[in-house]
Amino acid sequence: MGFVENCKIDWPCVALEHASLADRTTMRVGGRVRWLLEPKDPDELQAAYRAARNSGLPVRFLGGGANIVAEDGLWSGVVIATAAMRRIFRPMPGTSEEESLSARDADVRVAMPEPAEDPRLIAWAGCTMPALVRTTKGLGLSGLEGLMGVPGHVGGGIAMNAGGSWGEIWDHLEFVRVLSPEGEFQDIAKADGAPRYRDGNLGGRFVVGAVWRLEPAPKLLVQERIREYLQHKQRVQPVTQWSAGCVFKNPNPEVSEGRSAGRLIDELGLKGLTVGDAQISERHGNFIINRGKATASDVLALMDETRERVAQASGIALEFEVKRWLREDPPETSERI
Ligand SMILES: Cc1cc2nc3c(=O)[nH]c(=O)nc-3n(C[C@H](O)[C@H](O)[C@H](O)COP(=O)(O)OP(=O)(O)OC[C@H]3O[C@@H](n4cnc5c(N)ncnc54)[C@H](O)[C@@H]3O)c2cc1C
Repeated sequence: MGFVENCKIDWPCVALEHASLADRTTMRVGGRVRWLLEPKDPDELQAAYRAARNSGLPVRFLGGGANIVAEDGLWSGVVIATAAMRRIFRPMPGTSEEESLSARDADVRVAMPEPAEDPRLIAWAGCTMPALVRTTKGLGLSGLEGLMGVPGHVGGGIAMNAGGSWGEIWDHLEFVRVLSPEGEFQDIAKADGAPRYRDGNLGGRFVVGAVWRLEPAPKLLVQERIREYLQHKQRVQPVTQWSAGCVFKNPNPEVSEGRSAGRLIDELGLKGLTVGDAQISERHGNFIINRGKATASDVLALMDETRERVAQASGIALEFEVKRWLREDPPETSERI
């Protein structure tokens, strides 16, 4: 055992030792991490981030765990989780957006403008995407309805540029606050961001929170759109089963003749294929589900097998959308910093 394995570190926030990653990911598989840090606000997050960097251990970021499959076993690293940073609020009159994003206590004596006068919303990274959408429904603000059935936190959503046929989480962003590699707060205006398909393209920087500018709309209309998106999602995806969302990104339609990853898998008759208790969903070929007792090894093996079979049959090398947290791999974040 090396120095870092033995030492006790005085973390500046809640820190869980040997925390289960299966408990914190929607696939419900995977091992443990040496340290899981849970800062409760941006200042604690900044301190935790710097302490994690200084520890010399590799560092990864965790939102709702809805797009991650963590390998079995113990990973000797640090995971910084956003679960305790759930706040969502509207900008206070008379404060700049930058100040609003840092505000911890709303001043109840200040009368808030009507949502139509100031259609902005602010959320910290750990606010769930459904909670964000429910808030827009209550205020009569449109633009994020399609996110309702997308599990995870807004930090993870921005890092992944979560979306669907309706659009993407970046579409209505005003700016994103991130931590620089040195642990300084930085604001990225939407115009300066370069999000791509399922990739916020943040160079491994930690999303602290964000500000959205939405469209005022009748509450009933927002509610109706949410209902339609949810119904569609429930029809086409195995939303009540344990999974990590789409396993693969859709390939370039020119190469795949317009076929999505799910369709390529379906055409090969792979729906229902199992490894251990992991199975390709009968409902959607691009989803792998955990039927109850799957291990991460089962899930990862089934992913590899599917990818291999698609490549053999079509020559298309599917790219993973799911983040595979393999213990020996350098974390994406450290790689880039
Ligand atoms: C049933 C189901 C349906 C889904 N449907 C959709 C869909 O319609 N559209 C879609 O786009 N996705 C979908 N997904 C995938 C998933 O919901 C999204 O990718 C979501 O954005 C993941 O957010 P998260 O907080 O869970 O991120 P995590 O899974 O925790 O993390 C994903 C990646 O983001 C990084 N990350 C997490 N938090 C931060 C942060 N604060 N700063 C920087 N990086 C961070 C992680 O390190 C990791 O690399 C679905 C998943 C499931 C299980």
